[in-house]
This record gives sequence, structure tokens and C-alpha cells, in this order.
Amino acid sequence: SLSDRLTATFKNLRGRGRLSEADIDATVREIRRALLDADVAVPVVREFTAAVRERALSAEVSGALNPAQQVVKIVNEELVEILGGHTRPLSFAKVAPTVIMLAGLQGAGKTTLAGKLSLALREQGHTPLLVAADLQRPNAVTQLSVVAERAGVPVYAPHPGNQGAETDVVIGDPVGVARDGVAFARDKQHDVVIVDTAGRLGVDQVLMQQAADIRAAISPDEVLFVIDAMIGQDAVATASAFLEGVDFTGVVLSKLDGDARGGAALSVAKVTGRPIMFASTGEKLTDFEVFHPDRMASRILDMGDVLTLIEQAERAFDAEQAEKMAQKVATGQDFSLADFLVQMQQMKKLGSMKKMLGMLPGMGQMREQLENFDEREVDRIEAIIHSMTPAERENPKIINGSRRARIARGSGTTTTAVNQLLERFEAAQKMMRQMARGGGMPGMPGGMP
Ligand code: GDP
Ligand code: MG
Repeated sequence: SLSDRLTATFKNLRGRGRLSEADIDATVREIRRALLDADVAVPVVREFTAAVRERALSAEVSGALNPAQQVVKIVNEELVEILGGHTRPLSFAKVAPTVIMLAGLQGAGKTTLAGKLSLALREQGHTPLLVAADLQRPNAVTQLSVVAERAGVPVYAPHPGNQGAETDVVIGDPVGVARDGVAFARDKQHDVVIVDTAGRLGVDQVLMQQAADIRAAISPDEVLFVIDAMIGQDAVATASAFLEGVDFTGVVLSKLDGDARGGAALSVAKVTGRPIMFASTGEKLTDFEVFHPDRMASRILDMGDVLTLIEQAERAFDAEQAEKMAQKVATGQDFSLADFLVQMQQMKKLGSMKKMLGMLPGMGQMREQLENFDEREVDRIEAIIHSMTPAERENPKIINGSRRARIARGSGTTTTAVNQLLERFEAAQKMMRQMARGGGMPGMPGGMP
């Protein structure tokens, strides 16, 4: 996964908190591979990574994140932006009915979507009508009727007598049916009409013309282009053909329950500039959701909770303290008990350590220590350090037996607790020195105690 590969990249980066061109290039290379693995179209990947690289080069240095994390953050922000930034809701007509037309290749999931969308709308209090304007295959009308019945919404369908024929012939005029269906909806006061249309196995001029004619006849408020997320590298060509041939107002990504990482989403959004509005995630009518650009971005990146971690780290981290700490680490200056306390407090702010364990790339050796981390202990440590004199904090070597007893009394703890703290501090100090020599323990703000 990208997480694993970036972990390898992290290893070669010092935790120096500065974005060098080499750092950026190393990270961008991994991002490029991840996008290609996710089946994002090659030209889109090229353009995207070039934009990310440029932005990273001029990015402000973050105290909270290491260079690789900073690049990942930029990549994520750019992905979310291209995917539409935020969810775009259906736009309803000022005067009912709102007309929604579905377009896309055969098998894309249009008919299934018609059922899902009508069910969702019905549950929101709308009174949708489905119109069967796919007359390419005789059983397409039957299929829509079955879906409609499951969704509990009525269907406007032509020539019921012709249903069930198995020959592949056109059994009516789809443009006329679409127009009549919308008129019927207006008549019967349905506030939304969803017009299902025919698709072909590949992009086809006759099909495009038919869809364009239906569009012209019913002036839909929304034309939703349905595309199979598994389509991969073909997404750009298919979406471009539909954009040119029919034009659409929004995209629905179907079959997101499959293995596809969803690179098609990025390709289509980037190439067409149209928002992705819904995601279809299964064969059941309830396997349907509003599209969330941020969730899709992390799916494409395949970064699991790393993105969440970056967010948390940034939120929790005090940039100024980071700066000071980085300075200390970089210069190998002595790391004091006061610094140790600040670190522990930062970690507490980061939230439950145990939850974070699973999110951190490259934590290897720290895992055990983290597993034993108890947030209440930070409070204990705080009490102990506060009970020390400034001189003791600066130079813990002077803390002899009687001082230990005094500190324990003052902090309401035991001499054993004071001893343990001093041991932990010494270990942390040793680690900080190692980091200063360039061993590197990237990923954690200010290093780990
Ligand atoms: P249409 O030709 O565009 O109308 O596509 P259909 O709605 O008939 O769907 C084609 C096939 O894909 C059917 O077998 C559906 O059950 C299936 N399908 C549609 N949407 C999804 C989805 O989101 N996930 C999965 N797993 N299958 C889907
Ligand atoms: Mg269909």
C-alpha cells in the first residue's frame, strides 16, 4: 500500500521539518505510483503530480508534520478539491416536476440507480415517478418495473404488451416516451421524474444521438452520468464522449463496493469538471450514498487513517513549541525534564494513543512503549515535575534520595513513581540525542518520550 511505501520513504528522510526538493520528489514518486495503482488515467496523474510538486515546493514548513506527511497533506487537499470539495446536492426545479435524466453505458448501473434514487427521494418525502425510456432491449422495461416495485414508486412505461419479447429490437420511440412520461408526471403531480435511458456496450453514435434527443425533448434539471468505478483507464474516454455527446450536470459512481480504488472518480472529475454526486455501493436499493470527496480521496490514496492522523497531529500541535523542540534536536542541545513534560502533554492532546497505534506508519520500535502509554500517567508525570525545583528540572542528576522523597510527597506519588519517571526521562533523552545525530524517528511531533 501507499502507507507501506511511504514508510520506506520516511526512513530516508530526516525529521528535519523542511521540504527539500529531494524529499518532495521522493514522496511524489510514491504518490504517482499509488494513483496509477488506483487506475487514475495517466495524463491526469501526470498533470496532478506536477501541480502537487509545485505547490509543495512553495509550501510553508509545518512544525507538526514531517516532509512526507506535508506532501501527503497537499496531495489529499488537491484530490478533495478536484473531487468537488464538498458534496453537491441535487438541484430541484423551482416549478415541479424536477426532471432527472440518467445516461451512461450499458451495465453502468443506470436502472439500478433509478431504483436507489427514487427510494431515497421517496424516503425524503418526494413523490417520484420512474420513466422507462430504455427501449433498446425489451426486458429493460421489465427490469425497471421490478426495481420500481421494490422501491415502492410507480413507473411510466410504454407498450406493456410488448414486454417479455426476447429479440433485440426497438419497441417504441424513446424520445416520445420520455416526453410523455414527464407530461404524465406533471399531470399526476409527481414532484420528481427520473428518466432511465438506454446504453450500449461501448460509446456509439446512435446511442449518443438518442440520449441527446431525449435531453432536448425533456430539458432535464439534472443529467446524471452513471459510470462503473471498475472501468479504470477507459473512464476518461467514456466520460469525454458523454460530455460532448449529451453533456451532464453530475456524475454517479457505481460499483464502489468492488475492489476498484476509484481512480475513475478522479479522472472523470478532472477531465469533465462535473461534480460527483452519488456513489452506488451494491446491488441492494439501499446500497447508495451521497458522494463524499474526502472519503474518496483517502480511498484513492489508500492511506487508511494516516490522513486522520495528520489532521489530529496538526490540530494538537503547537507550532511554536515544535520549532523550539526541532531546534534542540537539530543542535543536539540538552533535552530537559521541562521539554519532556511538554512532549507528554502534546501526546495527550493527540488523543488516545492506542487508537493512534494503528494509524502510524513506521512506528516499529515505538509500538511497545505506546501500548503501555496511559493518559492518566501524563497527569502523574506533570505533578511530579511540578514538584521539582527549577534546578532539579534543569539537572535531574542532582535528584538524590532525600529529594526523591520530597518530590514524591509533594506530588502525592511514591518514590517508585519518581524513580520510574526519571528512568523514562533518561531513555527519552538518549533517544533525542540519537535523533540529533540523524538516526531519525520521523512522524511524531517532537519525537516520542
Ligand atoms: P444499466 O445497464 O446502466 O441500466 O445497468 P443496471 O442497473 O442494469 O446494472 C447492471 C448490473 O450491475 C446489474 O447486474 C446490477 O445489479 C449491477 N449493479 C448496479 N449497480 C451496482 C453497484 O453499485 N454494485 C454492484 N455490485 N452491482 C451493481
Ligand atoms: Mg438499464
